[in-house]
Amino acid sequence: MTDTITAPWTSEQVAALEQFQTASGMHPFTCGADLHSLPPALVPSHSGWYCPDPACDYRQDWAHTFMTNPSAWPKPFGDRHGPTPEEAHDAVLAAISNQSAANVPGATTEQLPADVLALLDTGRYLSTACETGRLLDEAIVRNPDRGDLPGWRDRMHTRCRLNHKFTGVLCGCPCHEEKP
Ligand SMILES: [Zn+2]
Ligand SMILES: [Zn+2]
Ligand SMILES: [Zn+2]
Repeated sequence: MTDTITAPWTSEQVAALEQFQTASGMHPFTCGADLHSLPPALVPSHSGWYCPDPACDYRQDWAHTFMTNPSAWPKPFGDRHGPTPEEAHDAVLAAISNQSAANVPGATTEQLPADVLALLDTGRYLSTACETGRLLDEAIVRNPDRGDLPGWRDRMHTRCRLNHKFTGVLCGCPCHEEKP
């Protein structure tokens, strides 16, 4: 038999097991309790598998090691529906590399390849944060009694991610200009 892993599992392992259950193209682990006519697929958690039926307390604390390794899942054949193992693999990798990594200031992970960018007329870019800051400026003028608005505006400008997520064009907001 194959190697097994025993709970507790990491978030990465849980994400991979979730993908395995729904998208691997292989038969998912199902509940081993007798009370179901059609055993439901088990749901992975940090502390192991559990049965999605709230009336069922079936638990299982082990999984096959290959279940957490999408590249070990079988390749698609015929006209199988749902995501391919490659797509499932990418989904797991996305879950593994902290989703928010693409949103930190200066991140280039989502940027298009240079040869594609060369075909685009990207023009000026104002980040959503700085754009919201500008909108707050207008709101400040209209609502001088709201003393909290300048704080929100300043916060928005400090939240700017600086470069366009997909094109890398730098934010054109004046707040980024060096003050002498
Ligand atoms: Zn069950
Ligand atoms: Zn700004
Ligand atoms: Zn900005």
